[in-house]
Amino acid sequence: MITLNELRKFQNLKREHRKYTNIDPLPRGGIIYPNARKALQEWGDGYSVCDFCTGRLDLIKNPPIFDFIHEILPKFLDVDVICITHGAREGIFAVMHSVCKSGDTIVIDSNAHYTTYVAAERTRSKIKEVPNSGYPEFKIKEEDYTKVIEEVKKETGKLPTLVLLTYPDGNYGNLSDAKKVAEISHEYNIPFLLNGAYAMGRMPISAKEIDCDFIIGSGHKSMASSGPIGILGMKKKCENVILEKSKYFKIKEIELLGCTSRGAGIITMMASFPHVVERIEHWKEEVKKARLFSGQLEKIGIKQLGEKPHNHDLMFFESQKLYDISKRHKQRGYFLYHELKKKGIVGIKPGLTKNFKLSTYLLTEKELKTVIDAFKDIIAKF
Ligand SMILES: *Cc1c(COP(=O)(O)O)cnc(C)c1O
Repeated sequence: MITLNELRKFQNLKREHRKYTNIDPLPRGGIIYPNARKALQEWGDGYSVCDFCTGRLDLIKNPPIFDFIHEILPKFLDVDVICITHGAREGIFAVMHSVCKSGDTIVIDSNAHYTTYVAAERTRSKIKEVPNSGYPEFKIKEEDYTKVIEEVKKETGKLPTLVLLTYPDGNYGNLSDAKKVAEISHEYNIPFLLNGAYAMGRMPISAKEIDCDFIIGSGHKSMASSGPIGILGMKKKCENVILEKSKYFKIKEIELLGCTSRGAGIITMMASFPHVVERIEHWKEEVKKARLFSGQLEKIGIKQLGEKPHNHDLMFFESQKLYDISKRHKQRGYFLYHELKKKGIVGIKPGLTKNFKLSTYLLTEKELKTVIDAFKDIIAKF
């Protein structure tokens, strides 16, 4: 028997971090706009978008999901075809599952997100990594894709079936030249998947210009959506492979199991979308802000790893000083989390001092200054 007492803790769930400035890269681009928060109230019930469904999510005209998926998003990403997934990982998996057979090899950058690995494992494919340049920049050299593709050919007697680049990667925020990797893939006639989980919805991106066959985005990561929701864009010629229809239910797409986001995810993505279109215009300012932040932290001995000058709001830092403080502080590694929280800042995982990542995305000037001053104060205080 479940007792009433056991249920009490579920009744009034409060989010402790909600009122703080959160510099964790994960939630920064997923914060929903006020009108989306209102829409969430209105559409939060399960299957709320299905009142006027004619058989498939992307065909729903009220609310205007059809226009969003088939007109607006293709224009936004400069891509032929869009479908909605439950997240970036589901998009990656959908592509791998459609393109690769068990035992095939997928070439990925060694900075790829863990979901790339588990998606490949779920399709029973093998992975071959393009190594990064190591400390301190951890860059992926585009030409190395050629080398690794050749290695796969030599070792397995077959070309890889898919090439993937993480753009930017979720650890260092490095942006490789995606166009070059696309060219290399196409020289070998291998389809190219661009994982833009930290790009789509933050920075301008054109699938046509990069010439990727598949492009992946994450709604809750970078498109101000409650999620879970993702976007998978593809070239027209790939549509039949990915969006094959069921022979039992003629309009249902097998890879999407018929329908994906059936409520709050797609609603908040649409409600936030006008703001997302607007914020992309200011990407250059976001990069400037990140560089300014990195420069200020370097001044107090906190070193930014990854590409320098940096081209993205996600940054990885290394701090021997904060680590040394943690060794003599009574709260040990947790001191940084508590010190920052006292100043209204959260987002650096409790326990971390030596290495941590953070994002300055959409911080106001005042918030940015507060965060910089907080680090300065903490270093000075100890
Ligand atoms: C966050 C992230 C993912 C996973 O995104 P979901 O939408 O939660 O599946 C995949 N790749 C990268 C690079 C990420 O940063």
